[in-house]
Amino acid sequence: MFKKEIQKDILEQKTLEFSSLRSNKENLSQSELLRYEQLKKELNRERVTLSKDIFSLDKKINAEKATLLLKINKKNKQEKTIEEIKNSDSLELDINEKTNNINSLKEIVIEKKAAKEEYSVELFELVNLKADLKKILKHQKKLFTLTIEKVVKDIEDNNVKITKKEINIEALEEKLKNRLDLIKIIDGVFEKDKNIENDFSFVIKNLNVFYGEKQALFDININIPKNKVISIIGPSGCGKSTFLRTLNRINDEISVFSAEGEILLDGEYDIYKLRSIKNKNDKIEITELRTKIGMIFQQPNPFPMSIAKNVSYGPKINGIKNKAILNELIESSLKDAALWDEVSSNLNALGTSLSGGQQQRLCIARTIANKPEILLMDEPTSALDPIAASKIEDLILKLKKDYTIIIVTHSMQQAARVSDYTAFFYEGELIEFDKTQKIFSNPKEKRTDDYIRGKFG
Ligand code: ADP
Ligand code: MG
Repeated sequence: MFKKEIQKDILEQKTLEFSSLRSNKENLSQSELLRYEQLKKELNRERVTLSKDIFSLDKKINAEKATLLLKINKKNKQEKTIEEIKNSDSLELDINEKTNNINSLKEIVIEKKAAKEEYSVELFELVNLKADLKKILKHQKKLFTLTIEKVVKDIEDNNVKITKKEINIEALEEKLKNRLDLIKIIDGVFEKDKNIENDFSFVIKNLNVFYGEKQALFDININIPKNKVISIIGPSGCGKSTFLRTLNRINDEISVFSAEGEILLDGEYDIYKLRSIKNKNDKIEITELRTKIGMIFQQPNPFPMSIAKNVSYGPKINGIKNKAILNELIESSLKDAALWDEVSSNLNALGTSLSGGQQQRLCIARTIANKPEILLMDEPTSALDPIAASKIEDLILKLKKDYTIIIVTHSMQQAARVSDYTAFFYEGELIEFDKTQKIFSNPKEKRTDDYIRGKFG
């Protein structure tokens, strides 16, 4: 009834491999990352199976223990009965009484016969009575022996059954112990990283994207690590913006747009099916999704309202009315976006009155105010002067502590400066994804090498 038992040594080997991949997670190649992800999944699945086993074993052991107890009670009862029968004088008395009766009848018959008295009828009855009593006596003796034999046999049988039960329970308990040991091995390796489930902001599988007949992205498979900066590079028209916009579903607005494949937010929520892959009843709203995944565009686009209102716009829409909370959010978001010092004295000024770089940081503050997990940035500095751009870059490095940031950039220097990982797209395909340092020093693919050396693009 249980799944084929997993070998302890195999499990230990897997957890060791998993641990070592994790400890070196900063430097994993894409294939190692996939292996890491696969191991994590396998270990998780194994853990689920083990818990199920443990649960049903525990239930089974309790049931076995209960029947064993019943049997022991029955056996005790039968032992008592056999003692009772052996010690009981009532049956003995009965038999003795009847034996005495027969004997006295016998004497009376002998007497009467000897006296030859004419009590023929009486004599006849007496003889019959004697015979009946003999019969009853014989029957009672037989019954007595049978009862004792049966009880003895029952007890012997039960003893066999009880030992069998005891062995059965021992075996089950052994199995249970084995499962508990195995689960401890898995928990041991998971213990080190409580956020194991959330190592990836996005797990993307076989993503194909179309604008009508035209395919813009081809079979993209990529895992986006959490709280890292990921650069998307590649020549114009290769699908960078399409990829980014597919991640928070703003491409839905385009009527000819369609996407196939799976995009899992936090490795769990299918953003196109809008539900958890772990629990189909666990749903996510598209508005919630967009709150979790903020987006910054190439052209800063503050709303035509005050700086303060730009920032509080999202929280207000999400139902926050308390002025103190809103003011606190405005201040903390502007501070996080490294804009507070420049605007705190004039929060009522129009957002659009700020410089380009400030406007972009205002847009970042506005996005941060919604408490997102992920920030998507589509060439956020390409409309800015170098000083304003470098302020945004500094900000990105500061923000990655709290957010996963995916940034599309045309600037190779920018990708090298700000990102931990770099994905190179070419003609709608993901050519290479690796640590930024690896991509820029020793890429695997020739096309990546050509692109970063400026041979095309
Ligand atoms: P990138 O951001 O790398 O420059 P895009 O994602 O903008 O590339 O474009 C990828 C491909 O998809 C291009 O061939 C482009 O013409 C096409 N494309 C982008 N947006 C649309 C759209 N709204 N309708 C049709 N085709 C589009
Ligand atoms: Mg683009």
